[in-house]
Amino acid sequence: MAYNDRETLVQEKWTLDQFKEWQDICINCGACAAHGPIIPHNNEELPPPNWSSPEHKCPSLEYYKFKTFAGQGRLALAVNLFQDKIQVTDSLTNIMYTCASCGICNEICPAYKPMQVILAAKEDICSRGKQLPEPLLELFENMDTAGNLFGLDKRARAVPKLPETGEYLYFTGCYTSYLLPQIGYVNAEILKQAGMDVCHLGENETCCGEVARQAGNTELFRKIALSNIEKVKKTGADKIIVSCAHCYKTWKEAYPWAMQEELPFEVLHITEVLSELIRQGKLTPEIPVERNITYHDPCFLRSQVNEQPRKILESIPGLCLTEMERNGRWSYCCGSGAKIALNCYPDYAAETGRVRAEEAAKAAAEVVTACPVCYNQLRFTAKAEGMDLRVNDISLLLAESLGISQEMYAQREDES
Ligand code: SF4
Ligand code: SF4
Repeated sequence: MAYNDRETLVQEKWTLDQFKEWQDICINCGACAAHGPIIPHNNEELPPPNWSSPEHKCPSLEYYKFKTFAGQGRLALAVNLFQDKIQVTDSLTNIMYTCASCGICNEICPAYKPMQVILAAKEDICSRGKQLPEPLLELFENMDTAGNLFGLDKRARAVPKLPETGEYLYFTGCYTSYLLPQIGYVNAEILKQAGMDVCHLGENETCCGEVARQAGNTELFRKIALSNIEKVKKTGADKIIVSCAHCYKTWKEAYPWAMQEELPFEVLHITEVLSELIRQGKLTPEIPVERNITYHDPCFLRSQVNEQPRKILESIPGLCLTEMERNGRWSYCCGSGAKIALNCYPDYAAETGRVRAEEAAKAAAEVVTACPVCYNQLRFTAKAEGMDLRVNDISLLLAESLGISQEMYAQREDES
């Protein structure tokens, strides 16, 4: 492989064995481990003027302070691990698993995608059978045996009333199904009102397996991916709609990576669908929502789906959007850290969440997001910190302007 073949280097389809053949190609520019604005240069185009990164970027570097916890430090360790020059220790495991998987280093690095190598290092640690943090093992067990992150019975899953077959399949995900059912009900209702032929897997829907992917448990992840893909094939759907940023990244990128082939259906985030329905005049938000809000870009939508949510917000009469300093491509993690930080390193997750919630509160009294994991984390943080910050979901906000009643959904939320 030619190291100057950037197109080849940045492919997300590399497997652990292929990574192991690498020599370290980090050019030690320090961009991912530095404070201060960085102008990314990807060897293909000059960045637009003023397109520099914010001062603070990598959540784990901000919390743990040492360069070891940034892309550059982790890469050096990963390469030594791949070449068997170092052993897996608790310390090495913690350094790798405190990566929030936010992907900011992928945006900045002029050489390649550091986060993909960190993922490969986690895969290497898993494949050596080394002990992982206990909460992570519980998540694996829950995904494998109960089919959801929480280890709950599938009958406790909130299932939107949708048919079993259709052109589009709405995949609700664990957080919406078990913690925030109002988001699933509202999305199903909006899609039905727009006349879409949309179906759902019902109680047979199971976790997308994102935690297994982000933790490097490739065996479990492939098993989950294969099962989910087969279930969707049976519905006849040729497009999947997800309302969780983690499900989006997983279906869109990680499943093709795991299967080493393209999926037989297109994957769309709900904001891509809703913004298009508004553009086509199939949805018309008419009821004014006279509030000042800010928008939090989830890490897994940040660089690919950042215009569509803003188009939805622009379409709501009366709404005033004030951006946070770190927005769009340069958004900052909510603290959940692909749910691994949240479950395994709660102090780090809480501090990252506090930083982000405070940034939101400086911009507006209400923060809106497009991922139930971010929603839950920001809502929990605002409450725990006693902040005067309302947290909302973009579909719930749109439903307000469309006049879709949320009474029954609010009731379900209280029960959850
Ligand atoms: S993915 Fe995010 S947390 Fe992990 S090293 Fe890169 S910037 Fe830091
Ligand atoms: S990983 Fe990339 S951004 Fe970080 S120091 Fe190396 S070349 Fe620079």
